[in-house]
Formats: sequence, structure tokens, C-alpha cells
Amino acid sequence: MDSITTNFGELVFNDTAMRERMPAEAYATLKDTIRIGKPLNPDIADIVADAMKSWALEKGATHYTHWFQPLTGVTAEKHEGFLGCGKDGLPVIEFSGKELIMSEPDASSFPSGGLRPTFEARGYTAWDPTSFAFIKDSTLCIPTLFFAYSGDALDKKTPLLRSMELISRESVRILHLFGHTDVSHVTPTAGAEQEYFLVDKELHDKRPDLVFCSRTLFGAKPPKGQEMEDHYYGAISRRVSHFMRDLDRELWQLGVYAKTEHKEVAPGQYELAPIFTDANTSTDHNQLVMEMMKTVALRHGLVCILHEKPFQGMNGSGKHNNWSLSTDTGMNIFAPGKSPKDNLQFLVFLAAVIKAVDKHQDLLRVCAAGANNDWRLGGFEAPPSIVSIFLGDTLYDLLTSIEHKEEYEEGGDRILESGICTIPRLRIDTTDRNRTSPFAFTGNKFEFRMLGSSQSIADTNTVMNTIVAEALAEFAERLEKAEDFRREAFRIIRRTMREHKRILYNGNSYSEEWTKEAEERGLLNLRTTVDALPRFIAEENIALFSERGIYTRREMLSRHDISLENYIKLIRIEANTMITMAQRMIMPAVIGYETKIAEAVSAKDRLGVPNDAEYALLRALSDGINSLHKGIGRLFDSISNLPAENAAAAEHCRDVVLPAMAALRGTADSLEVITAKDAWPFPGYDELLFSL
Ligand code: ADP
Ligand code: MG
Repeated sequence: MDSITTNFGELVFNDTAMRERMPAEAYATLKDTIRIGKPLNPDIADIVADAMKSWALEKGATHYTHWFQPLTGVTAEKHEGFLGCGKDGLPVIEFSGKELIMSEPDASSFPSGGLRPTFEARGYTAWDPTSFAFIKDSTLCIPTLFFAYSGDALDKKTPLLRSMELISRESVRILHLFGHTDVSHVTPTAGAEQEYFLVDKELHDKRPDLVFCSRTLFGAKPPKGQEMEDHYYGAISRRVSHFMRDLDRELWQLGVYAKTEHKEVAPGQYELAPIFTDANTSTDHNQLVMEMMKTVALRHGLVCILHEKPFQGMNGSGKHNNWSLSTDTGMNIFAPGKSPKDNLQFLVFLAAVIKAVDKHQDLLRVCAAGANNDWRLGGFEAPPSIVSIFLGDTLYDLLTSIEHKEEYEEGGDRILESGICTIPRLRIDTTDRNRTSPFAFTGNKFEFRMLGSSQSIADTNTVMNTIVAEALAEFAERLEKAEDFRREAFRIIRRTMREHKRILYNGNSYSEEWTKEAEERGLLNLRTTVDALPRFIAEENIALFSERGIYTRREMLSRHDISLENYIKLIRIEANTMITMAQRMIMPAVIGYETKIAEAVSAKDRLGVPNDAEYALLRALSDGINSLHKGIGRLFDSISNLPAENAAAAEHCRDVVLPAMAALRGTADSLEVITAKDAWPFPGYDELLFSL
């Protein structure tokens, strides 16, 4: 066999490993839990632990850890050695069902948003048997959920798993009505396309802004940016392609189907897309992808930047969350088939998504909120902060004809005529792609494009599952009672169109006209994180989640607090970094250069040589230094007076601190272009972006 497929998943305790190493009965029980969500009999934990342990030791693992996803947005792990001391003082290997199922990491230093006072530090991690354990860096990582002593969830995975069960139940109800009584379980699937930047590590480390904030807080625009559009899909340099191959190898071993890699729009920007899988595994995989990108980059003398907007004036990085529903009988619910017109089941599910997204635009926007992503949403390349759905003309026309009870003529196949007789005739898609929509139907799945590159996909999938389940439940209720099932289904579609078609938009979402039109249609435009976050804890949203057991009210309030706090902390760190760089690097460097010019001016003066140019430069430098001094003072004042209360502090950050940062940056960037290159204290955009 080839080495790619034999090594694939070799560091994962996956289905093959389980089947080989567990007694048939225990394996079958575990498999039912994984595949169709059956509760797991705790008795088999010891059997699984034993198999897992021997497998891991053979692979060279020395430690194990419960691997979880606290509200920091990154993963957490606390390693325990397999090695213990036996009764006779001799070394033994310790790992039983007890260690597999539960662990008790100190929760006091993870964000809890007030759910857990520090004196109640207990937190628990609980084994999630539906995501495979894997070995990373000689450590067996066991995917787990994370709770407080009070039972409140302190992580991103618990609500996700709760929402996966919910949407399975509601989807199955509808599928049974359509005669698919063989379906017993439905799984939301997800595939996360990940954008990132690579920069040379040596250059990176010379910039405190990149080191502390992962984004440049200063930097004049280089003579060439992305205007030539020569980077997108361009040939990949050797250094970068070696990195990518290395990354693929690591990810394949971890069972991640890393598939597509290409250059993105901005110089230094790239993308990796894996093959989709169930939303739970996909969430874990995306965290692994981000972590591995960073780790592997370092081996190649590179730094991988996952920040949403590392370079002003260049495209930022997003993450596309592709989402669909798949049955345990292997059906993709959002695959319309050859003739969507005759696929009433598809149309009902489609209507549920339209209704859900229109009704809960705010929740999808909240998933993409964050100080970093604010730089992207509404920028010239990213989806705007307005949520809308792209369906393509075919589906849009079909739904419109149902709405108006008109006959719908399906177009035939479209053939690509290249005009060259040696090129085979190619059958092409009936609709073109739309790149600007924040939420696009792309053939057999939906693609949510607002997410920022560093954000976890857990929240988005939790929201998608919950809001679509809500709509499906309403539909199921009506369909179950209906005398004429088909008529009722059409009625549901018609009504959805009447009430929610404002959310459908096939045009260019980046355009000014759309912003205006969206406002006329009454769509939300929550421009910044500060505008968006309060929507999460609006009473109707608390009811939506808590009534369905996805989040409790307390969990929602705490998550809201954490998000607000993160926004404030992030901006404060950026402001402090700017002040340090301006005061301790830019100011002395420019004064040093200014002194040289001043010397030239006076030397020429003494000699009676014309010195207009030097004099003009000296004036400009001197004026710039004065503005810099004032700008530093203004920024310092702005962060010294933060209101105590979080919501007010966040508004202050947005309305006072961010403008002060922008002003200081403007001054520094103007100084950069008149200061000698070798006098500037850190590498500029030209070097950072064009050195690979
Ligand atoms: P594009 O760049 O056009 O958005 P890609 O092919 O790069 O498309 O990425 C599409 C992503 O969608 C991949 O990660 C793919 O695995 C994922 N995907 C495909 N089908 C499904 C599905 N049924 N459910 C979830 N994700 C899917
Ligand atoms: Mg995409």
C-alpha cells in the first residue's frame, strides 16, 4: 500500500484501532454511541481504557491528558504520566476507566464569566466518546467536555453536543414524515476552510506588535500591495510548499483529511481546506489544524498568523464553515438531486434554513463577533456585518414560483463551449458562484463566511443546529397534524417565502447599494462587536437556547461577560503595545535620524551650501515627532480612563481608544515614509509581506 493511506490516522485511536483491540461486544456498544448517539454503558470504560492505553504505549506515548476547549477559544491540556509507583515500590502503568471518564483540572484560572468564584475552583472534564482520542507530542489526548462544580458548562463543546442531539431529533421527525423511517439519527456535518498568513520568523520577532498582538499596529503601505491580483492561486514558493507538505503529513497522521491548499488574495496569505466530517470532530480538527499550523511553521523558520487582520490595507483572514445534515443511512439532506423541483423534502429543509437564518440573523453575527474580526467584517474584502443568504438563481426562481403558485421550468444541463474541438464538452453548474455572500448555498451545503480565522467553529455550529432545529420542529408540528401532507409542505414553503424572503440576496454583498437595500428590507446591520454582543443575551435568545437545553441562562450571561471582557482586554493590550513601540522604538529612532539631518543642515549652513531639501525634511521630522508625542499622550489618557462597568468600557474602547490608536498609527506611518529605511526600528510591510 502507498505510504499516504497507511500512515493516515496512525496517531488516532480510531475505528480500526478500536475494532482490532477491543472485544467485539464492547466495540459494538461504543460504536453505537459514536454513530447514533446511544448512551454509553459506563462498564465498558475500563475496557476502552485498557485498549487505548496499550495502543498509546505502543505508539510511544508516555503521558495522557484530557483535552478540552475552554472559553479562551483555544484548547487546554494537563499532562499526566502513565507511570505510577506500585505497592512494592516498582513502576506500574496507571490508566483505568476512571481516568478515562473523568478528571478534575483546577478550573480557577479559566474564564468562567462569574460562574465560578475562585474559592470554588473545582472543574471537571468528562470523556466525549464521540470524538476519537489521538496522540500529539507523545501524549494521548482524550477529547473531553469541561464543567464547573455547579454543573454549568465552561467550554465550547458541551453546547455543541447538546445542539447536535437536538437537530438530530427534529430532523428525524421530518424525515419519518417523508417516509424515511429507516433513519434513526442525523448528524450535522462541518468543513472549516482555514485562512492564514505566513511571515519569516526573524522579521516577525523584531516587531512587538506581531509578538504580542499578532497584528501590525504600525506600518506604511508598501509600494505594491495586492492590486495586481497576482497572489491568488499563484505558484507556491519552495519554502512555503515544504511547510505545507510537512503540515499535511502531521495532520494526516492525526486523521485530518487536509485536502486543498492554495495562495490567497493578499501577499503572504494561504488557505487550507480539510474534507468535512461530523461537526464535533470537525471542531476538534479545526483546533488541531490551527495548532499544527503554528507548530510546523516554527520548524520552517516561519510564524503562522491566524489573526483576522494582521496587515492594514490587505485582505484579512476568515474561516468558512460549511454545514450540512447527513443521515445514518448516508443521505446528505441538502443535496437537491437532479431535480430540486421534485425534491419536496429538500425544499422543506431549505425553508427551515431560510426561516432560521432570517429570524436569527443576530445570533449568527454574534458568532463572528470579536475585536479582531471587526477589522474584517465590512472591510473591502470580507462579508459585511449584514447577514443574508445566497441561493443562486435556480433555487431562488424555484422558490419564488412556489410562492406564487406558478409552474416552474427546470433549465437543462449547461454545456461549456470552449470553442476548441480537442477539449471535451464539459457539463457545468447551473449557477455561478457567489463569493461575497456571508451565507451561501453551495450545491449541497451552506457556507457561513463571516467567521474570523482564529475563531472556533463550535459556536457557529451550535447556533446553526439550534435555530434550524427550532424551525424544523415548527414544521414537523404542522406536518404531523396535516390531512394532506404534500399540500401542507407547499404551504409551509410559501409561507416561509412570504415571511422571510427579505433574507435572500443573490447580488454583490460588498456593495454600497446592498447596505442601503438591506436597511430598507429591515435586516440587521450590527457593525461592531459592541453592537452585536448584547443580542446574545436578549430575552428571546435566552429563551431559545434555555428552553431547548443548549445553554442555561447563567451560561449565556457568563459567556456574554467573557466576550465583552475579551474585547476590552484585547484593545487594552494593543493600546499598550502601541504606546511602548511609539515611545521606546519609533521616537528614539526618528530623533536619531532627525539629529543626523539637523547636523547636515547646520554643516551646509556653515559652508553656505543650499540646504532647502534637508531643511524641509528636518521640519517634517520635527513636526512628526511632536505629533507622535501628542498622539502617545492621547492614547495613554484614553486607556487610563476606562469605565469600570464592562459594557461602558467596551463602548469607550470602540469610540475613544480605537480612534486614538488610529491617529497615532497615522502619524507613525507618515514618519516611516520619510525616515531612512535603516533607521526605522523594525521591519516594514515590504519585507514582512514579500520575503517568502
Ligand atoms: P470553496 O473554496 O469553493 O469554498 P472548498 O472545496 O475549498 O470550496 O471547500 C469546501 C469545504 O466544504 C470543504 O471543507 C468540504 O469538505 C466542505 N464540504 C463539502 N461537502 C460538505 C457537507 N456535506 N457538509 C459539510 N461540509 C462540506
Ligand atoms: Mg469557501
